[in-house]
Amino acid sequence: MRIILLGPPGAGKGTQASRLTAKYGVPSISTGDLFRARVKDPNDPLGQQIKAILDAGTLVPDEITVKMISERIDHDDCKNGFILDGFPRSVSQAEALEKMLKEKNLKLDGVVQIGVDEEKLVERIAGRFSCSGCGEGYHDKFKQPAHANTCDKCHKTGTFVRRADDNEKTVRERMHIYHTQTEPILPYYTERGMLKTVDGMADMDHVTAAIESALEPKNGGAAANSPKKFG
Ligand code: ADP
Ligand code: AMP
Repeated sequence: MRIILLGPPGAGKGTQASRLTAKYGVPSISTGDLFRARVKDPNDPLGQQIKAILDAGTLVPDEITVKMISERIDHDDCKNGFILDGFPRSVSQAEALEKMLKEKNLKLDGVVQIGVDEEKLVERIAGRFSCSGCGEGYHDKFKQPAHANTCDKCHKTGTFVRRADDNEKTVRERMHIYHTQTEPILPYYTERGMLKTVDGMADMDHVTAAIESALEPKNGGAAANSPKKFG
């Protein structure tokens, strides 16, 4: 299964990607996570260059991003597929992905847009935190850990962190970039007959079920192409 999850910052791409990995037995690949891992290393000069871009909320250049994805999907764990979260983020990246997959003789199975009401995204992003030990995502209101300050997944205590770029100024820029550079991907995949849309405002379990249904070939994507408009 090779799929792309699309949607603005805070739509729930990472949340859904980690749920779908178990079902499909394929890894989720988040370009944002890959970049944040590099930023953490103070001896990595590229990491420090990337840090400034992440802090500003703009896009890392394609030559870095596309190469990183191409190398990542060559790893053994991707032999049965992958879930892309945060890539592609522009038409030029979508074109590069199409070319790359062709060269590797691989096919995309689907592109799912997680549709959300934009005014709700601020609440989603402002309440987001995660475990620095295992990456599990949480929310102050929508997904609290069972025991305060302890990760449900890896059981470590005191590992919760908030993203530096989840601040008002950077979020505003990330939303602007989404509208100007990422949204044009939607017609790109519609024209290729690949785009399905699910209601990302439903609770997390329902969103997962809707994505699974949208990817089901036998119902032709019954949950897809919902008439509801988001934005
Ligand atoms: P993205 O990867 O698209 O930026 P995340 O998956 O990190 O978004 O989700 C943003 C925040 O919203 C997280 O704190 C997550 O727990 C929460 N969240 C995700 N999906 C839902 C949902 N369907 N309802 C309520 N909160 C959600
Ligand atoms: P995310 O974790 O998906 O919210 O991404 C965090 C940040 O990483 C973005 O604001 C960008 O600066 C950078 N980034 C993530 N994915 C990409 C991509 N596909 N192309 C360029 N920059 C990206």
